[in-house]
Amino acid sequence: MNDNMDLFGAIDAGGTTFKCAVVNACGDILERQRIPTTTPAETIQACATFFSGFSQAQAKGLSSVGIAAFGPLDIDPKSADHGTILKTTKPGWSMTPVKQAFSKALGLPVYIDTDVNGALRAELFSGAAKGCRSAAYMTVGTGIGAGIFVNRGFSGAPSHPEFGHVCVKRHPADQSFEGLCKFHGDCLEGLASAAAFEARYGDPKQLPADHIGWQIEAFYLAQACINLHLSMRLERIILGGGLMQAEHLISLVRSQFLTLNGDYLSIDDAAATRLITLPGHGHDAGLMGAARLAMLGADLEW
Ligand code: ZN
Repeated sequence: MNDNMDLFGAIDAGGTTFKCAVVNACGDILERQRIPTTTPAETIQACATFFSGFSQAQAKGLSSVGIAAFGPLDIDPKSADHGTILKTTKPGWSMTPVKQAFSKALGLPVYIDTDVNGALRAELFSGAAKGCRSAAYMTVGTGIGAGIFVNRGFSGAPSHPEFGHVCVKRHPADQSFEGLCKFHGDCLEGLASAAAFEARYGDPKQLPADHIGWQIEAFYLAQACINLHLSMRLERIILGGGLMQAEHLISLVRSQFLTLNGDYLSIDDAAATRLITLPGHGHDAGLMGAARLAMLGADLEW
């Protein structure tokens, strides 16, 4: 290791796992650990132990820590609750002051943003949206969320979008499922999250690629993409999260996106492939975004 290089802590704080890593100024991951998301106190302590252990072993402290966290999250630097997870369905986590807790546990500057904004930062800087002036990152996991970068800033600031809860029209073969969203039933997240998919079709890894469930899933995700694109004319729409690990899904989404577009905008197959894409950083998009936050040393600024 280059001893002169600053080291940063990165945390991709998810509802199931907190992925922690120590990253150098080049963005190389030097060490990483996955910590199950249990209670806030236990989870935060386990993460702090990982970072402290690394610092002690290397006899070198971290400069700062970045967190890309599940939400809803208060990301307004002027708010008294900045860095706090707001009312959430995740048991025990509502009103957890994540930023403050890590700052106290580690004695370091801590910078925080949403998981999808974090992932989008990394994708804009060095991933699938590098060089783009506008882009969105949508995660399709236990829930659905999107970070959107337009007009030189993150959409929704000083709060963040709740794009997972937009309305979608039903697939003709998916009329009876009520939807899983506790608040809206059959919103986008209620119909197309990994949890909603599993509720109807079981383990996605066991489902054949030609099962109609994939067509139905792609129909909802394509609606999300066309709504994002028609609203903001984005240069990239990056689809990440657990369900996108199904390799055939992205091409189904592009295909249904073109059908929904109906030749309105001039988008051919090649353009749709450029527009709708997987993360350049793969599973590490959130983690690299958290590292980017730590390096930038700022919460909301790009
Ligand atoms: Zn909803």
